[in-house]
Amino acid sequence: MLDLPVTLLLLAALLGLCLGSFLNVVIVRLPVMLMRGWRAEAREALELPEEHQPPFNLATPRSLCPRCETPIAWHDNLPLLGWLKRRGRCAHCGTRISAQYPLVELAGGVLAVAVVALYGVGFQAGFVLAACLALLVMAVIDLRTQLLPDVLTLPLLWAGLLYQVLFQPLMLESAVIGAMAGYLALWSVYWLFRLITGKEGMGYGDFKLLAALGAWLGWQALPLLLILSAGVGALLGILIQLAVPRLRGAPMPFGPYLALAGWIALLGGDPLMGPYRAMVGL
Ligand SMILES: [Zn+2]
Repeated sequence: MLDLPVTLLLLAALLGLCLGSFLNVVIVRLPVMLMRGWRAEAREALELPEEHQPPFNLATPRSLCPRCETPIAWHDNLPLLGWLKRRGRCAHCGTRISAQYPLVELAGGVLAVAVVALYGVGFQAGFVLAACLALLVMAVIDLRTQLLPDVLTLPLLWAGLLYQVLFQPLMLESAVIGAMAGYLALWSVYWLFRLITGKEGMGYGDFKLLAALGAWLGWQALPLLLILSAGVGALLGILIQLAVPRLRGAPMPFGPYLALAGWIALLGGDPLMGPYRAMVGL
């Protein structure tokens, strides 16, 4: 932990809240944009006429109420405060607005404060914060849609290798092995499970996400990441299925647990990673 002035941490929190507000837009719109793209490609392959739809991207249309489609005023759209001010309801029609919005904003604020407290302010901190926020987007998209899009997992992997080249060149070899081993470990589990049970237990996105974490943290962190994500995943999975019986047997996304393990390993710093490295003898 660095000894930093409180104002700096407050600024970090503010930045994180605002970034979280943008991440909500990505979380909600990116899967829709991808689906539209896939649909357009499929229509082209089937030689069907092009569909004409109003433009939809991260900037257009403006933030709307999902029910009555009234544009949301800027003062109701402020991170955290907007949702609290309206008590989670649309100002126009009173429809409930998902708690995902303030929760993602809050998570953005907490992550920004943690990164600044551990890494200070600079390029390296910027890289780590970007990785933490990318994990946040992937975790929530996976929860909502059971997708871990390549447009997120693959850049995170390459950014991890770039991070090592720029800031920890001695880690580069470990990171390259981490990326390969991360992918192949889950790929092997997937095929073993598939050959034995005939079912698909995981998605390819999970392999790519673990490869990305291997690139950021080195192969030595892979057992820790798997123990943390599988442990928390199994525990929460059992608790959720006990509490909500209708979810029994429903597919459980693995991405959020991998993201959680990634945050812990990225931000656990020496208090966590020191004893762990000593334990595995690395
Ligand atoms: Zn409304």
